[in-house]
Amino acid sequence: MATQKEIRAELKKLNRQIADLRKELHVISPKRTRRNYNGVVLYEGPSLIDNAPIVAIATGLIWPSLNRKTGDMVHVWIMRADTPPVEAFYTDRDKSVCGDCPLRKDSEGNRICYVLLHQAPASIWQNWAKGEYLPLVDYPEALSLISRKAVRLGAFGDPAAMPFELALPLIQGSLGVTGYTHQWQKDFALPWRETLQASCETEREAQEAVQAGWHYYRIISDYEEARKEEIFCPAKTGNTQCSTCGLCDGRSANVVTVVHGRGKRFFRRRFGNGDAAEDADEQVKGDEEDSALW
Ligand code: SF4
Repeated sequence: MATQKEIRAELKKLNRQIADLRKELHVISPKRTRRNYNGVVLYEGPSLIDNAPIVAIATGLIWPSLNRKTGDMVHVWIMRADTPPVEAFYTDRDKSVCGDCPLRKDSEGNRICYVLLHQAPASIWQNWAKGEYLPLVDYPEALSLISRKAVRLGAFGDPAAMPFELALPLIQGSLGVTGYTHQWQKDFALPWRETLQASCETEREAQEAVQAGWHYYRIISDYEEARKEEIFCPAKTGNTQCSTCGLCDGRSANVVTVVHGRGKRFFRRRFGNGDAAEDADEQVKGDEEDSALW
């Protein structure tokens, strides 16, 4: 019969083996994981764009977003699950969450998209990789927090990369939803037609989107390019924020905005007429501020 000393030694040995196994499997001990209740995991699974693993995380549940354009909204980030966002950008793996979006890096490495990948997306991805965010099923209180705010789908990444049904609790349970998709021509994006704006860069695309039953959000190079039936994004004039405006809900209006952010030069070169307004960096500053509270 084993003595108490031998039993204790055996237990110690077993604990060491379990710890080694956890390390091997990259399982973080729940005791040691810091929980971040400001965010919740909505989806972990294949991208509807190319089947690669992606993750969708909603943040801003507790701490207010400092993004000056959107105001205090819940922000949903869609990212590759197996690759941090900056690396995904350099390796073209971001295609799984951005699809054929023309604002992605082109063959010369020029990028129009204003999202600063090394800031909020990088830090949210790291928090998720450390296991800080709970999945929605283990954090039901998240829904009641979300119900007090409007939701911005696709603060980074295209919402249509995730199954529509999984976003329904947010869509139905929040104060309102805004969002955009460049996948509007794809069949898998159809369920999103009355929730997201079709993202367009040309007038022709905008007309095609309308014919296909979408409302759109069109980026233009200059104010003069807007058509009279289109509505200028009121956030550009500083009169409102997305959290109270809500026009980009896939049902209400066809919206235009003049290109802004660091990629505006490349946008004009690719789509525009050359002489656009120099109004750029407001949105960029807003997004930079936004990274403070993940
Ligand atoms: S139109 Fe309204 S909801 Fe859409 S981007 Fe502008 S402020 Fe936001």
